Amino acid sequence: MNPNVDPAEIAKFSELAHHWWNPSGDFKPLHDINPLRLDYIDTRVGLNGKSVLDVGCGGGILAESMAVRGAAVTGIDLAEKPLMVARLHLAETGNQVDYRNVAAEDLARELPQHFDAVTCMELLEHVPDPASTISACAALAKSGGQVFFSTINRNLKAYLFAVVGAEYVLRMLPRGTHDYAKFIKPSELAALCRRAGLEVRNVTGMTYNPLTKIYALGADTGVNYILHCVKV
Ligand code: SAH
Repeated sequence: MNPNVDPAEIAKFSELAHHWWNPSGDFKPLHDINPLRLDYIDTRVGLNGKSVLDVGCGGGILAESMAVRGAAVTGIDLAEKPLMVARLHLAETGNQVDYRNVAAEDLARELPQHFDAVTCMELLEHVPDPASTISACAALAKSGGQVFFSTINRNLKAYLFAVVGAEYVLRMLPRGTHDYAKFIKPSELAALCRRAGLEVRNVTGMTYNPLTKIYALGADTGVNYILHCVKV
């Protein structure tokens, strides 16, 4: 087994897999943020006609939406049940995504410098060694290719919003979804990207207003954020 995987994380996502495409279920936040992150990526990549890899794709919310925009998408994950759900969903919609159960590190050896863009959303806070995942994502992108990460910042506000608020008060996510110690500051993520040969182009916050229930992209990177890099 690939060393950069926490079996407890895989079990957690496998147990919830059948809820993946329920827009008001356990993965509601991913459904709600998807149009925003999809536009963010499409604006920078021009998805139509591009080859894209989605690392830690789960049930395929982002992967399938990128395929709808005309990209040739490969989605990889190490949890088989979410991948099965993702494949079943393709049977319903007729969309095309190549879903594979393979670690990013292993695929990087098989297909180095292969993809126009690599997306890795809401995964880094679930892996034992984020630096290894980031290096693999960098290796999988073509030279000049675009690489995107999204994760959760580490500070008091992120703890209050992403753990206490989302899991305990608003119950938007199952308890235990996130471990505060694994959150990553934008400065730390940027340093890891630079070390992997990626040039950071943009960092954008993803905010949720619990009163209006509106998600938005903007300058506030205090809780969730997306980072865009180019492989130099
Ligand atoms: N990226 C998707 C899903 C995020 S949920 C989205 O944003 O919509 C996190 C996903 O990461 C789950 O599907 C889980 O199975 C997967 N995962 C956890 N550890 C992993 C690892 N080491 N390698 C690949 N995928 C992993």
